[in-house]
Amino acid sequence: MNAVENFSRNPKTKSWIKHIYWSCESLPSPAEGGTLIPFGLGSSFGDVCLNDGGTVLITRSMNRVLNFDEESGIIRCEAGASLDEILRFVVPRGWFLPTTPGTRFVTLGGAVANDVHGKNHHRAGTFGCHVTRLELLRSGNRRFVCSPVENSDWFAATIGGMGLTGLITWVEFRLRRIRSTMIETESIKFRNLDEFFDVCEGSDAKFEHTVAWVDCVTRGRGIYMQGNYADSDTGGLKPHGEQPFNFPRGFPSFALNRFSIRVFNQLYYSRQLRQKTSGLQHYAGFFYPQDAVKNWRRVYGTPGFYEAQIVLPLDSARDALREIFKQAAKLGQGAFLAVLKKLGSVRSPGLMSFPRPGVTLGIDFPNKGPRTRQLFDKIFRIGLDAGAIFNPGKDVLMPPECFAKTCPNWKAFSAFVDPAFSSNSWRRLTKGLL
Ligand SMILES: Cc1cc2nc3c(=O)[nH]c(=O)nc-3n(C[C@H](O)[C@H](O)[C@H](O)COP(=O)(O)OP(=O)(O)OC[C@H]3O[C@@H](n4cnc5c(N)ncnc54)[C@H](O)[C@@H]3O)c2cc1C
Repeated sequence: MNAVENFSRNPKTKSWIKHIYWSCESLPSPAEGGTLIPFGLGSSFGDVCLNDGGTVLITRSMNRVLNFDEESGIIRCEAGASLDEILRFVVPRGWFLPTTPGTRFVTLGGAVANDVHGKNHHRAGTFGCHVTRLELLRSGNRRFVCSPVENSDWFAATIGGMGLTGLITWVEFRLRRIRSTMIETESIKFRNLDEFFDVCEGSDAKFEHTVAWVDCVTRGRGIYMQGNYADSDTGGLKPHGEQPFNFPRGFPSFALNRFSIRVFNQLYYSRQLRQKTSGLQHYAGFFYPQDAVKNWRRVYGTPGFYEAQIVLPLDSARDALREIFKQAAKLGQGAFLAVLKKLGSVRSPGLMSFPRPGVTLGIDFPNKGPRTRQLFDKIFRIGLDAGAIFNPGKDVLMPPECFAKTCPNWKAFSAFVDPAFSSNSWRRLTKGLL
């Protein structure tokens, strides 16, 4: 067995590893009678891609473009292709992803299975909204195509289905036309949460992409970023380059504490001098700032970190966010990566899909052991009281009661889970429920 890691490095697991190739006709059987889970690039913060003691199916060798209609922008790729590879292929042809998460190191299968969303959720919804068809390979060698009109119940279960309905072998989806790789951007500083909500008010109608970095140490100041694809062909159609920096190994985890986080957040907030700035930025810097530094998660050291992503209804969001920041400060837990975004009402076809209208907070806390878990208990409590939903794709600590309450579709979904498939996440979230 080999150590297998997700992005947050929690929990630590060991699994049997089997590689899936494009020529594969059938699913390999799980080692030692255990279970299977597909594994893309392991960019999940949660334990959805982990299967401690079982088998993980590495999909990266299935990464071919199978078909591309340059007129309509409909593309079909194998599920192990990464968004990084797809962008290199489509951008020079004047097309872009319909929506993208904050990293391009995600496979197509992973993007569908976690039904990822991006800065344009208020306009475009989730990735699953743009999928036209996909193929599913289940144990017993059942292979079939699903779409909104063909095997539509399997389609709904697989989008946001956390890899549990079977192996996705290929995905067909719609791209978005672009004239240039540049984004016309605006950055606006806000001093507190009230100002954040004021800026949101006017922004969504004018901008396709919106997101805010928030300083949780000061309980709510931050920088709001908004942008539209450039309307002219300025900058051409040159795709992104390689990752210019690599974070060194062996960074001591104690170096990341509430004092260093406070200093980082102060510097980050102060780097923009004026209250509002505007400019032109390549999509790589706008959508994927963290991808500029390879292995940046090493900043958290071997203990890794925990992420919470929560979506709060608009009417309870302000108070709940204030309370979360207050509890984090009380427990001496700072965060330098905390993101706020207003989600829109475009419905995903996914049965288990997480995004819904409201305000989402995604926040990473360094793993400080019991102190961090105590903070998460409080976040789950605050969220439940405020009518929140938690993202199972980014979670490692949610208790089954919280999952059952906030994801009522889990019962209907469980009928679609392949009997040969399981994951750390599924076993933990359904413990005592099934
Ligand atoms: C820096 C960073 C920023 C991010 N920003 C965002 C964001 O803005 N929005 C967002 O929604 N997410 C975001 N994420 C999370 C990331 O987009 C998702 O976790 C994504 O699903 C990871 O894809 P992956 O290929 O690495 O899949 P993995 O992490 O390997 O697996 C994820 C899930 O997909 C399943 N899976 C993978 N391949 C297949 C397949 N072929 N068939 C069936 N199931 C499969 C796995 O079993 C697992 O359940 C971010 C992650 C990072 C590291």
